[in-house]
Amino acid sequence: MAGPLDGLVAVVTGGASGLGAAIASRLRRDGARVVAFDVNPDAATDVDLAVAVDVTDDASVIAGVERVAAELGGIDIVVNNAGIGAQGDVTVNSDEEWHRVWDINVVGMARVMRAALPHLRRSSAAAVCNTSSIAATAGLPQRVLYSATKGAVLSMTKAMAADHLGEGIRVNAVNPGTADTPWIGRLLGAADDPAAERAALEARQPHGRLVAPEEVADAVAYLVGPHARSTTGIGLAVDGGMQELRLRPA
Ligand code: NAD
Repeated sequence: MAGPLDGLVAVVTGGASGLGAAIASRLRRDGARVVAFDVNPDAATDVDLAVAVDVTDDASVIAGVERVAAELGGIDIVVNNAGIGAQGDVTVNSDEEWHRVWDINVVGMARVMRAALPHLRRSSAAAVCNTSSIAATAGLPQRVLYSATKGAVLSMTKAMAADHLGEGIRVNAVNPGTADTPWIGRLLGAADDPAAERAALEARQPHGRLVAPEEVADAVAYLVGPHARSTTGIGLAVDGGMQELRLRPA
């Protein structure tokens, strides 16, 4: 059966785990050939190619992009999803932590875009989706550094959408709420009572549960696919209503 992304090549950063893995799998199901860029490429399962790329290392990003273009014939879709978390109020994170998290979550995206743009320009179906977060807009407590990076991702999404509109390259973002990924599993696992912590976390979501990674993948598939061909510069919330209803964790 024909898929909406048949014949297209997609790169998903952070594609070996969590949201990235679900996105990779979903884009494959829609017909794309999918490449995961990840510091842990061996963990990638449902992909056509997994490449060891560290988004903080420009040479590794360039080499990864050129390898994809050479082996798969081009790049049509980029999902900038690699990212890490940080907790605390403004007094908590050191300058070093600020630079490290910013380098992955924000500058990493710029590195991938710089390398991929020449290839996206040659595509007739070019689309980019960046993983921002509810943290970009919700004012989440104890997430100053993380929120700053995700706000930057959303702002970059809009600026890049404007810059590349005339070239036919759409740039959108997804803003997931708390999603049930290994990252959240690690956070819960560090709690005294992980089951109670999970229940409390679920109760703080507007719809009473964590977002499934597949739900975020569905949104990404829409944004990079042909049904969204008139949509660029948006941040699509996948959060049970937290962003649009101005609901906040209790
Ligand atoms: P995860 O830890 O399960 O997966 C992240 C992946 O990124 C891993 O495979 C990791 O190896 C890779 N990665 C980390 N640093 C990298 C680097 N320097 N270069 C290349 N790859 C790197 O996390 P997740 O929960 O799936 O999060 C993915 C994205 O979604 C992140 O950008 C995160 O900020 C965002 N997000 C997550 C949630 C959530 O609740 N899980 C909510 C909103 C946004």
